[in-house]
Amino acid sequence: MRNNFRSLALSAALIAPAAAHANGDVAWDILAGLTSEVGPRMPGSEAEARARVWAEARLKALGFSSVVVEPFTIRGYVRGRDEASLVAPIPFRLAVTALGYSGDTPDKGIAADVVYFPTLDALKAAPDGSLAGKIAFIDHAMKRNQDGSGYGPYGQVRRAGPAIASGKGAVGVVIRSIGTDSHRNPHTGGTTFPEGVKPIPAGAVSNPDADLIARIAASGKPIRIALTLTGKTTEGLPSGNVIGDLPGRDPTLPPILLGCHLDSWDLGTGAIDDAAGCAIVTAAALKVQEGGQPLRTIRVLWAGSEELGGFGGKAYAQKHGEPHALAMESDFGAGRVWRVNTNFWTSNKPLADRIATALAPMGIVRGTGPVEGGTDVEPMIEKQKLAVVDLNQDGTYYFDLHHTPDDTLDKVDPADLAQNVAAWTAVLKIVANEAGALTPAP
Ligand code: ZN
Ligand code: ZN
Repeated sequence: MRNNFRSLALSAALIAPAAAHANGDVAWDILAGLTSEVGPRMPGSEAEARARVWAEARLKALGFSSVVVEPFTIRGYVRGRDEASLVAPIPFRLAVTALGYSGDTPDKGIAADVVYFPTLDALKAAPDGSLAGKIAFIDHAMKRNQDGSGYGPYGQVRRAGPAIASGKGAVGVVIRSIGTDSHRNPHTGGTTFPEGVKPIPAGAVSNPDADLIARIAASGKPIRIALTLTGKTTEGLPSGNVIGDLPGRDPTLPPILLGCHLDSWDLGTGAIDDAAGCAIVTAAALKVQEGGQPLRTIRVLWAGSEELGGFGGKAYAQKHGEPHALAMESDFGAGRVWRVNTNFWTSNKPLADRIATALAPMGIVRGTGPVEGGTDVEPMIEKQKLAVVDLNQDGTYYFDLHHTPDDTLDKVDPADLAQNVAAWTAVLKIVANEAGALTPAP
């Protein structure tokens, strides 16, 4: 394995420069390279390590300077065997995936009667101890929408549901996937078991399978499920951030920080989440430089281990004390940018107006909502109270693919990807050439 890994690392370094210029489309080359030459990139895995080697070589080949890998370690999740079946009232093999940080079953699995909860609130209302010996099934009603805002509230079923079920005595938990498709693809993602709460096996089934369980539950027939999830939560796995700069004309001015994440889930190849994000921010930074060296340095942060708790963003903020000017992130697929939000204070109103004007011809509207930044830059935004520009992507179909086996390269529309790069380039050209202070609203 060790020798094999070395030779892969070497070949990535050797082929990078040629591949980068294969067809002159930097964004597509990064996206295709990460998904095809590295593949899925689980936090803390050997594959994520290969991704760092690939990323370092690629950023250097593209002309970034001060390219560094900043290592850290994480509590990871190593997937095992994921299987689930309805045992009663009808036998049926379910399409299931373990959630990150799931507890594990014995190799032979467990089987238990199911208690159906239509919502997370219904689970919360269940009496203490009422789930002893049972598997909790948690349903929800997330629907597709353009801004993806359902993921916050409905995603809590995945993030918090398993720990709540464990607290009430459940021996396992199965949720409806946090997704909007009707394919038999389960959606994975991280869950959390706070200190003192016993981790229990926790899986997500596909939407059609959840529909079936809901129909049986409505009929009043008892449900029994067999569950085998043998993956293990593992401490001390190696991860890291890869960082590169395009130096500005004035090195004394704080840089613009662009975030994305290098890691991905393992069911697909992590094309929309988040190879696309790294492709977009990196290609846009280079496009700005092609048009003339900007005043401020543009820094790209390809963060590690976002998927299991935003480890890379936290590590970056902890390590970096030097001032930053503004932060942006791309981590919502590759759908067209449709809206821009900023958090500029009134002193930067002319700048915000110029950004909106530059984006309008691309069909991008000016939002009035709060900025979100994103997991990979959020800790630095918090630490230094940074200005933020959010370029919101159309998320209508994002949660059809998110964290599923369908997160693959063919799902990215090259024209949409190019529109993203154009929007990012337009914004970066303005903010990276702004000499004055970039001030967020208090
Ligand atoms: Zn992501
Ligand atoms: Zn994700």
